[in-house]
Amino acid sequence: MPLAEIQARVASACDAAGRNTADVKLIAVSKVQPNARVQAVLEQGHRIFGENKVQEAASKWPDFRTQYADIELHLIGPLQTNKVKQAMQLAEAIHTVDRPKLANAIARHAQDLGACPDLYIQVNTGEEPQKSGVLPTDTDAFVAEVRALDLPVKGLMCIPPVDEEPSLHFALLAKIAARNDLTGLSMGMSSDFESAIALGATHIRVGSAIFGERVYG
Ligand SMILES: *Cc1c(COP(=O)(O)O)cnc(C)c1O
Repeated sequence: MPLAEIQARVASACDAAGRNTADVKLIAVSKVQPNARVQAVLEQGHRIFGENKVQEAASKWPDFRTQYADIELHLIGPLQTNKVKQAMQLAEAIHTVDRPKLANAIARHAQDLGACPDLYIQVNTGEEPQKSGVLPTDTDAFVAEVRALDLPVKGLMCIPPVDEEPSLHFALLAKIAARNDLTGLSMGMSSDFESAIALGATHIRVGSAIFGERVYG
């Protein structure tokens, strides 16, 4: 279980970039991983995890929370409006706010619940038709719209196209965040988290490099 190895690589990438390791959160993406692997990472003291499906998160994390204190769960997958309330009750952060209907649903439930997870707006930096996220040109307006709902927008998130140099997308996301006075940058996965750290990532989402290849049933 190479959690320590990934932590060491995060630390050297931070050093190389002249950044403080405490400013980069390592989100261990546990989707589809057997519970034994997740438990092993919890046993090593790690507490920050990511899931991309509400249902899967609901089946796993309430149990783990009874066993381990201070778990911080990040939802990093596409979110349907009928799952919003459950998502908000399960997670400390939602990285995939990508449309007004979803933002409005979150705002409604935030009123009822009296609380709201940290929110990140997903940007489709590669302008890929099949991918979620607001287009780069629409992002400034959408950030303003979500802020106007009095929601806690912490930053931006992206998933670069598989066949393109990720650093161009990380740089674009950082630029859009800066002009919107947003400090959070959720970017970088197993194959590219070091370049994401070099370009300012505050949250890296690392799955297979920590847990091993995902086993889809
Ligand atoms: C699965 C997933 C990851 C982790 O991917 P790895 O390549 O296994 O590190 C990161 N971000 C999102 C949005 C994901 O769905």
